[in-house]
Amino acid sequence: MYQIAAGQAGAGPELRQEAAGSLAKPRDAEITVIGGGAVGAAAAYFLARGGYSDIQLLDARGLCEATSSQAAGMVGQARPTVERARLTMAAAELYRSFEVSTGYSMDYRECGAIRIALSAASVAELTQIAATAKVTGLPVEFLTDAQLRDLCPVLERTDGIKAALWSPTCGYLQPNSLVAAYASAARDLGVTIAPNAAVTGIGIGHGAVQAISTKEGKFATEQVIIAAGPWSAALAKLAGIELPIVPVLHEYFVTEPVPGWHADLPCLRIPEVQVYARGESGRVLCGGFENQGTSLDPRTVTVASPLPAAPDWDILAGFGASLGRFVPSLSEAGVSTTFQGWPTFIPDGRFLVGPVSAIRGLVLAAGCNAHGVSGSAGLAMHLLESLGPDPSPYVRSLSPDRYLPRTWSWEDAERQARAVYETYYPMPGVPA
Ligand SMILES: Cc1cc2nc3c(=O)[nH]c(=O)nc-3n(C[C@H](O)[C@H](O)[C@H](O)COP(=O)(O)OP(=O)(O)OC[C@H]3O[C@@H](n4cnc5c(N)ncnc54)[C@H](O)[C@@H]3O)c2cc1C
Repeated sequence: MYQIAAGQAGAGPELRQEAAGSLAKPRDAEITVIGGGAVGAAAAYFLARGGYSDIQLLDARGLCEATSSQAAGMVGQARPTVERARLTMAAAELYRSFEVSTGYSMDYRECGAIRIALSAASVAELTQIAATAKVTGLPVEFLTDAQLRDLCPVLERTDGIKAALWSPTCGYLQPNSLVAAYASAARDLGVTIAPNAAVTGIGIGHGAVQAISTKEGKFATEQVIIAAGPWSAALAKLAGIELPIVPVLHEYFVTEPVPGWHADLPCLRIPEVQVYARGESGRVLCGGFENQGTSLDPRTVTVASPLPAAPDWDILAGFGASLGRFVPSLSEAGVSTTFQGWPTFIPDGRFLVGPVSAIRGLVLAAGCNAHGVSGSAGLAMHLLESLGPDPSPYVRSLSPDRYLPRTWSWEDAERQARAVYETYYPMPGVPA
């Protein structure tokens, strides 16, 4: 079991040590998963659990040392559409029960979540979410002002709040625990986990994947799952295809200790001012989705790009000011840490999951659109279905084929993907 605070990089000393052992080298394997973040680790586990064998998971670094290590870990199940709500509910159930079924905890904390509406339009959205929850069986309820203050006493001001929707079974998990748990359970099912194994080439012959190259040499493989987060477009390019997987900067801060912000406080989302917050071991964790995102042109990212990310203090201060409207005392809290990274966005805001028809054995598991930690189980479930005999129309619609061959422009793709980030919370620009 690994108990690591949010954002602390690395999947735990035990697993790292084992992974560095003699078995943990790239090898010939039927299936090669590239990327040991939340998505690659989930993919490896789900494939092994789904009956696939001879799987290796390769990472250029260690496990959970890139985007996933930075995530706030929030798992929201209250969604406007039935499909998304059912998927996140299934994922949350997996996080909740993983320790019982595998022996490895994901440190899922069911503290509940409150979504706040500041306008009539936003109230309508909460009503839609509540209607969807009724269909899917997710418990939710609208709170009175007194109930809101009772559940979330850190809210010093509630004026202007038109509605608050409470979903008691939502929560958050520790991304490092999630990745370590998936990887440990995958390893128990026979998956080889090799860190420090950067894939530098994907060999294609007769229209099919044949091999991968690493510094250790070239290894035969029949299927490659690209789950390399912000490097996914660069990996796809190694296989000769272009996909609009756009990294967009995302960040949050954690304050010094602030009274009342304990770990079981509900997660807060205030879409109109585009912020989220939760307690993190007695501190305030606060992030958001700014109106003008910063993206990378995927063509400029190579498999060797380090992709550093630095805090943008103006943006972080903006998140603080938005939350500060409801928690004025926040202005007195010092910031202890910031977290930032490059989650990927797809121009249509949907996952990019499944086989590429043009190249047998080439499969994508990317485009998490900023919910790759909470969505990792759902994405992996879709991946498994996409490889089966009869994927649903919905899963087919997530196929990378929708962008192949390239008829779109890179400039439009980057702009549209960035817009998905900027409108992550619906109704941007509605006066708060
Ligand atoms: C500040 C911040 C807050 C966030 N908060 C949340 C949240 O609350 N909830 C949520 O669900 N999501 C959140 N996200 C988004 C989430 O972190 C991502 O969607 C998720 O981590 C993506 O996981 P991944 O496995 O695809 O990518 P990564 O974690 O980046 O993993 C990709 C891996 O691929 C490896 N790799 C790259 N190239 C190669 C190669 N050539 N060979 C071998 N390996 C390679 C890398 O080393 C890396 O380990 C947040 C993101 C950020 C930055």
